[in-house]
Amino acid sequence: MKTGQKNVGNEGTLKRSPLRGCCRNPWRKKCENRNITVYIRYRGEQRPICKTCWKRIVTQGHQW
Ligand SMILES: [Zn+2]
Repeated sequence: MKTGQKNVGNEGTLKRSPLRGCCRNPWRKKCENRNITVYIRYRGEQRPICKTCWKRIVTQGHQW
């Protein structure tokens, strides 16, 4: 009765941090994008930054 050794359906084991979700750009509080590109450290906290915000940060520069 073996059905092969495919490892399917273990999505519940995703052990991502609770940070995943929407963007938490400290400079733009209302951003709710979910296409997280990068994580930055801000005041000892890791924050997910979406693509849009990241681009903005890179091009305009911000005071860290
Ligand atoms: Zn954002």
